[in-house]
Formats: sequence, C-alpha cells, structure tokens
Amino acid sequence: MGLSYNEYLTGTIIYGCKNCKTHLSNHEDIISRNFRGQHGKAYLFSTVVNTISGEPSERNMTTGRHVVRDISCRQCKKTVGWKYDRAYENSEKYKEGKFILEAELLCKVT
Ligand SMILES: [Zn+2]
Repeated sequence: MGLSYNEYLTGTIIYGCKNCKTHLSNHEDIISRNFRGQHGKAYLFSTVVNTISGEPSERNMTTGRHVVRDISCRQCKKTVGWKYDRAYENSEKYKEGKFILEAELLCKVT
C-alpha cells in the first residue's frame, strides 16, 4: 500500500469523501456547479487532494469526446469522480487537468 498520509485542507468549507471523511477539496476551488455525474449533481474543481487516478479512457459525453480517468479516494478507494485529461472541442478545453467530484459522494467537513 505504500505511504498513507493524507493532506489536510484548511478552507472554511471543505469537501470530503462521504464514506471516510478524507479531505478532497476546498469550496473555493469549485469552478462550476453545472455538471452532472452518474449520481446526479457534480462540481468541477481546479484541484483535489488525496485521490488516486485510474487509467485514461476515451468517453463520449454530452459535451463531446473527452479523455478522462476515474479518481478514487486514497483512503477508502471509493470512486468519487473523474479527471479530464483531454477535451477535443475547443469550447471544452478549460476542463483539461480539472476534476469532477460528484455531490452525492461528498460530505462537508468542518
Ligand atoms: Zn474515502
């Protein structure tokens, strides 16, 4: 398993893994709330911590073709969203290197 230390965030509102409360991102890092995941509402974040990424795969989404990888909580290994590696449409390029976390899989940590 290797080293298993976790990063702790210090924002006013922190989003964590619903399953194990591991910190994942700050409220301030939300770029957009207008996303939908497999479980409904999802947010686009500029940075997340304490996750592990899967293999890249190409997916056709409503906004076009993207290369994405699933991201999972480093602590409990539950999938919490995905990361955009590449967007093919110019209008979607801003998502490259950004992360989706599904609202349903998050909890607010205070
Ligand atoms: Zn977790």
